[in-house]
Amino acid sequence: MIIAVLSLQGAVIEHIQMLDKLGIETFEIRKKSDLDKHFDGLIIPGGESTVQGKLLHELDIYDTLKEKIENGLPVFGTCAGLLLLAKSIDNDNKTHLATMDITAMRNAYGRQLGSFYTKSSFDDKDEIPMTFIRAPYISSVGDNVKVLATVDGKIVGAREGNQLVTAFHPELNDDLTVHKYFVDIIKENM
Ligand code: GLN
Repeated sequence: MIIAVLSLQGAVIEHIQMLDKLGIETFEIRKKSDLDKHFDGLIIPGGESTVQGKLLHELDIYDTLKEKIENGLPVFGTCAGLLLLAKSIDNDNKTHLATMDITAMRNAYGRQLGSFYTKSSFDDKDEIPMTFIRAPYISSVGDNVKVLATVDGKIVGAREGNQLVTAFHPELNDDLTVHKYFVDIIKENM
């Protein structure tokens, strides 16, 4: 199994380290030709969704990537990655890949005090550590979306088919639950 990490901007290395711990081969997508290599899943990291969204177009990656996701490529978006995948964003008139049937609220916890740490259950199982950094939350989901995690009544983790998103950054804590969950989605497709 090979997982690519979209490496235009943001928390790339931390995801690669998590996948290393799971013994999974990775490579970084930095330019269009990297999309020609074989990969079984893709991680879109946290960072700044507007910057990543702009670079997808500037590097001419946007169309190919959107098509791959629409054709079933398993994808895991954290934080800004969630915003890139959301079909709609409450407080932003611009969307990006817009492949997942969720509506997101950007910078939902405020700009200054927007970073916090908590623990909550994931996929109806044990609590896991959750680090939020100027995070969005999911304000509504479509019929085919499964809610995987909530904090204070807000949705912070969800899955639709092969698309997985978290508003928090699982790559910034030691717990491997969410990355393992993503690997299981990929295995279902192999
Ligand atoms: N606030 C950022 C955005 O709008 C996301 C922050 C993050 O990825 N940690 O893109």
